[in-house]
Amino acid sequence: MKIVTLKPRHDRPIRLRHPWVFSGAIASVSRDPALGETVLVTDAEGIPLGLGAWSPTSQISVRMWRFDDGAVDEAFFADRVAKALAVRAGMAERFDTDALRLVNAEADGLPGVTVDRYGDTLVGQFSTAGAERNKAALVAALMAQTGAKSFYERSDIDGRKYEGLPPAVGLLAGEEPPERIVIHEGQVRFAVDVRGGHKTGFYLDQRDNRRLVAEEARGRSVLNAFCYTGGFGLAAQRAGATAVTHVDVSATALAQARANTALNALPEATFIQGNVFQELRTFRDRACRFGLVVLDPPKFAASKRELDKAKRGYKDINLLGIKLVEPGGILATFSCSGALTPADFRTAVTDAARDAGRTVRILRELRQAPDHVESLTFPEGLYLKGLLCHVE
Ligand code: SAH
Repeated sequence: MKIVTLKPRHDRPIRLRHPWVFSGAIASVSRDPALGETVLVTDAEGIPLGLGAWSPTSQISVRMWRFDDGAVDEAFFADRVAKALAVRAGMAERFDTDALRLVNAEADGLPGVTVDRYGDTLVGQFSTAGAERNKAALVAALMAQTGAKSFYERSDIDGRKYEGLPPAVGLLAGEEPPERIVIHEGQVRFAVDVRGGHKTGFYLDQRDNRRLVAEEARGRSVLNAFCYTGGFGLAAQRAGATAVTHVDVSATALAQARANTALNALPEATFIQGNVFQELRTFRDRACRFGLVVLDPPKFAASKRELDKAKRGYKDINLLGIKLVEPGGILATFSCSGALTPADFRTAVTDAARDAGRTVRILRELRQAPDHVESLTFPEGLYLKGLLCHVE
């Protein structure tokens, strides 16, 4: 096996089981491994630390598959898949859903591998060279162990270019999935477009939060900003919200939100296509107020470099949002920027509340749903943070 030798004193993160080897930590590489090839990682003295996948064009040169001397073969991937499924045993029943994240990359010991289940269809993203190289073994294990009917690939993600991989989309196993897959979260149904939707088709990470926010919705008017296919607004309507206004920049997402409203036989809602930053100002200028405001923007920081700009973005959007909450109303505000810490996010909301001249109390701190497991040794895996707040 080809060997990646670390520089002196650069072995500590790997010994602590953090799965990334950065290019700057590497002293030497034997015999030019292929894209995604499994390599042996050793410390500067040649003591083995484990096996990982070689990504020659990425800043993260190796992502560790394991921290011992076992094999990385079909049986290994079948075992990792079995463990990922075991972690989620009973979750679908408990959350009353048929849509679940089954594999959450590093946190499941499978860097670069994301797999979501929508009914009988699995949708996967293979974002790294190692994931790509072992795709067939992963797909075979997932199909065999879940009994799913289809495995559809949505590796049309930016990160692949840093890995030297082209985007890849299409059927990998089983039959073509239906054009829309109807899933449910409790009482609410959503039609999911796994071919054209965002990510693998739906924001499963917000499942718990949709429920928790909906618990506050009874008797309130709701502004669902960055609504995508209706998520928070539909859950709120189902829970007794008096009116819902959905705002998104995407006409496709809004059309699906409208269709999902009908699918659930919910009363009419208002759908506004536009830039949320602009639309919130328009509401402000017209003195519109809402009993519950949801802010679930896309990530403002793709990396640490964009952090300062992102912090300003979160402050601005929360300032606009807080001003629109009726006295005694609720704000549910989120950030899915992995580069932003929960403390940074809280600071942005604190600054916004102060500038808005409102007293804001946190009712609950929110996180990504538990099927999006986090590993203690990979804190980067926590990306979705939210605050459910009372606004005086
Ligand atoms: N809350 C949703 C997920 C939101 S994803 C759910 O529960 O399913 C973020 C959404 O913001 C996407 O639908 C995207 O189209 C939209 N978006 C991104 N930038 C926007 C902007 N400036 N104004 C309005 N919508 C925007």
